[in-house]
Amino acid sequence: MAVEAYEFKSEAQQLLDLMIHSIYSNKEIFLRELISNASDALDKLRFERLTDDTLTADDPDTPLGVRVWADPEARTLTVEDNGIGMSRDEAIRNLGTIAHSGTKEFVGKLKDAQSSENAEHLIGQFGVGFYASFMVADEVTVVTRRAGEATATRWHSRGDGQFDVDTAERATRGTTVTLHLRPVDEDNGMGDYTKEWTLKGIIKKYNDFVTYPIELRTERTEVERDDEGKPVEGAEPKTVVEWTVANSQKAIWVRDPKDVTEDEYTEFYKHIAHDWEAPFETITLKAEGTFEYRALLFIPARAPFDLFYRDQKYGLQLYVNKVLIQERNEDVVPDWMRFLRGVVDSPDLSLNVSREMLQQDRRLKAIRKRVVRKVLDALDTMLKDDRPRYLKFWEQFGKVMKEGGTDADFKAKVEPLLMFTSSTQDEVTTLAEYIERMQDGQDAIYYITGESEDAVKHSPHLEAFAAKNYEVLYLTDPIDEILVGHLTEFNDIPLKSVGKGEVELGTEDEKKAAEEAREQKQAEHKDLLEKLGGLLSDHVKEVRFSSRLTTSAVCLVGGEHDLSPGLEKLLKQANQAAPGSKRILEVNPDHAVVTTLKGLFEANADDPKLGDYAQLLYGQALIAEGTAPPEPAEFARLIANLMV
Ligand code: ADP
Repeated sequence: MAVEAYEFKSEAQQLLDLMIHSIYSNKEIFLRELISNASDALDKLRFERLTDDTLTADDPDTPLGVRVWADPEARTLTVEDNGIGMSRDEAIRNLGTIAHSGTKEFVGKLKDAQSSENAEHLIGQFGVGFYASFMVADEVTVVTRRAGEATATRWHSRGDGQFDVDTAERATRGTTVTLHLRPVDEDNGMGDYTKEWTLKGIIKKYNDFVTYPIELRTERTEVERDDEGKPVEGAEPKTVVEWTVANSQKAIWVRDPKDVTEDEYTEFYKHIAHDWEAPFETITLKAEGTFEYRALLFIPARAPFDLFYRDQKYGLQLYVNKVLIQERNEDVVPDWMRFLRGVVDSPDLSLNVSREMLQQDRRLKAIRKRVVRKVLDALDTMLKDDRPRYLKFWEQFGKVMKEGGTDADFKAKVEPLLMFTSSTQDEVTTLAEYIERMQDGQDAIYYITGESEDAVKHSPHLEAFAAKNYEVLYLTDPIDEILVGHLTEFNDIPLKSVGKGEVELGTEDEKKAAEEAREQKQAEHKDLLEKLGGLLSDHVKEVRFSSRLTTSAVCLVGGEHDLSPGLEKLLKQANQAAPGSKRILEVNPDHAVVTTLKGLFEANADDPKLGDYAQLLYGQALIAEGTAPPEPAEFARLIANLMV
């Protein structure tokens, strides 16, 4: 096949431009990225070989590994692996586009990124990997041959919007990436990447734990010597080439945590998580006994932008005896803990992780239980010992933690870690802290759900609670509606919505007195309330007097066991049947509108004005919740009439 020229996909080109006009001081990481890719390619080969042993038939004896060499005269640097390689199509696809989903959003965010630190972080999340080469090179050539295939491909680009692809020669499978390096410019972070010790230092720093040998080519000049060890006269000095392994290859998670430095953990985390930032928290776990495994877990410092994308892949790397089996295993963490990164390694799992195997499944479940508990315990300790730090975590991952509150297996351990804003506190609060502040006679934890804090803050539902100094939690995340379905009590104290059922607040005596007074008024106005109920029967199931209003005229409340409007909305959005239950319109018995209504009603029970006023009351209650009345134009007309 002839040479073909291609254009980079636009997002890829944008990233490439970013790399070329590099804002990063830390240019040396390009090597880390190339070696990471090589190591991934070796992992893939090792894994595919489990089911197809012909893949290494082309070169069965050379051990799997990475080789790095430089040519100072030509100013080239080469990274080579004998891993899975790429077919022509794969090279075009993998090296000319960004494979990850959500690219558009990403590039959008990148454009919005205010600072280079933000941009750096975004790029880190995205794992630009290969493109980092263009920070240090003005020309990149890749020669690659897919394992099991006979032909090789040459991919070449100057990073100028185009790359070309050609058929090439390569004796065996694998990938060779050759960079033509830009001139050394120490002031701008461009070191001399042809120097052996520079390369060695970078490999040691970033890729020490890579489980394959990374061999570095070293050269020595040797003069031929005679039997007595004297240089042979006239003999030309010879160049002796040697390959030395630059990394220790020790799987970091099998080492005793005491012997691992924070830097080593950080580099390992960056390697597996494709993050440029150090992890927020590192957690190690070792299980011994009949079923052995180890885990090395990381909580990232920032939530990835795709944390709430559907179908986002999550999970931990699964190793069996240091052999990578799965990049993201979803059995060892629940989906709500999708922020967790890390490694699980067990010699007792079988190499072929297949879902049918019950035994395997049980083991993975056991690991999952331990992993989740361990992380929750770490968070619990953090909350107790270093609350400001915990708040940082909460800011990033609070919303997913709330999902955890709906997980029957772990909710008991998640609930104490949940934080909410509230009507009386400037800072977020836990449920336990809320309980400590409860008023005498208060027997429930009250909350209000809604679309935003602003929307709920001024809700009429809160009036009676504010009057009594009762704290109300603001539940304004979409997940909260589902959370409260599971979080029905905490430390034996029930959670109650301020918008549901009847509320009587205060001591037993106060409650009783209030209820009696309300019932008496209710009885006095029975006919009027029934009339209004009839007029609004399309919208509400009842009109009654309220004990929760002090200043507003009306509000809408749900029955004790009804779905909240927010939850109904969620169900509808998810295309699930929502019963669409009608709510109750509560009227403030002490409000002057009651006098007006009563006057009209007693003068003429069929006065059409009563119908209009009923609609106005209902519309008002909706507006106070941030919802439009059913017929906004009609509502506006009624108000205008009222003003005339
Ligand atoms: P990432 O590694 O984050 O996926 P890269 O831009 O570094 O992103 O690489 C893109 C893709 O190119 C990789 O996912 C892989 O499929 C392919 N690739 C890169 N380097 C190699 C290599 N040495 N061997 C095989 N495939 C590679």
